[in-house]
Amino acid sequence: MSRAFNFSAGPANLPEAVLEQAKAELLDWHGSGMSVMEMSHRGKEFMSIAEQAEADFRSLLNIPNNYKVLFLQGGASSQFAMVPINLLRGSHDNADYFNTGIWSKKAIAEAKKFGKVNLVSDSEVNHFTTISPSSSWQLGDNAAYVHYTPNETINGLEFQTIPDVGDKPLVADMSSTILSRPLDVSKYGLIYAGAQKNIGPAGLTIVIIHEDLAKADLPPMPAMLSYKTHIDAGSMYNTPPTYAWYIAGLVFKWLKDLGGLEVMGQRNQRKAEALYTAIDQSDFYDNPVDPAYRSWMNVPFALKNADLNKTFLAEAKEAGLLTLAGHRSVGGMRASIYNAMPEEGVQALISFMLDFENRKS
Ligand SMILES: *Cc1c(COP(=O)(O)O)cnc(C)c1O
Repeated sequence: MSRAFNFSAGPANLPEAVLEQAKAELLDWHGSGMSVMEMSHRGKEFMSIAEQAEADFRSLLNIPNNYKVLFLQGGASSQFAMVPINLLRGSHDNADYFNTGIWSKKAIAEAKKFGKVNLVSDSEVNHFTTISPSSSWQLGDNAAYVHYTPNETINGLEFQTIPDVGDKPLVADMSSTILSRPLDVSKYGLIYAGAQKNIGPAGLTIVIIHEDLAKADLPPMPAMLSYKTHIDAGSMYNTPPTYAWYIAGLVFKWLKDLGGLEVMGQRNQRKAEALYTAIDQSDFYDNPVDPAYRSWMNVPFALKNADLNKTFLAEAKEAGLLTLAGHRSVGGMRASIYNAMPEEGVQALISFMLDFENRKS
């Protein structure tokens, strides 16, 4: 068996040590005689797995006690609707949204079904390659919250600091950047993330929510769409994605053992800088994103001669470098280099790119 370096944007690669541990525990978890997949979510074995995972996640991100952590299903795409359904209410019929890429647009489209959306800043005019300066942002007066996408997974555009939006609750879709570096959770009202990029397997969605945002009485709504339902039930209103929750817990343990998010952040910065430097120094490859907003996690790049795309991908695969094709909506290439991508993987990609350039230019 040989494991390749997998640059998939999601579902993405997982740390090998985590997969090894899952394999060792697959048939019989800690002498329970059961696989985690076969356990009752309310049994003491799974409860201990769930509690430990939450405790480790809280400690990695230093999550204050007045925030709840939810382990849900439905993906970030469900959060695009749950956020406005739960937070647009009472005197607030509008929310502020940053439009910085394809995922922002999807979140905006869902929010518009439930209220008015005010665009704070719109990067579509520059093809999502930069973010306008804060002096030009147009924040609404009566917005219920301000939503943004810290890292646009498809466009490779990332806020490098937390936007200052005054005292409105800040809501963030962190699907592809959570746990990539330290984060000040106290600056947020709500954070959500699908797990399959930087947390664990697909099927799990984590929500971090300030308790004040889930207090008010809501009009009747489907129980599954209410944050309060899930808070009151400790994420066990219905059957949670137990196996994905368990694997996420192994990933949190792996991150803690490595030294936590400070160490991981330094490592991710080194990986991204090495790859962007290689692209910028070449006349063969190109990344269009403003250097001030380049993503640490998703690095899109184009071959200036697009006729070589197919050959590039085929030869990369041959060299054990997988899933480098860009998103179908933008084309070109994209290397996703989440936490689980080792520095050797990025070095292997850079070496391959240089060699390919030498042979083809
Ligand atoms: C992948 C991704 C999504 C969609 O996630 P699903 O879990 O498939 O719904 C949303 N937002 C961002 C930023 C993403 O990277």
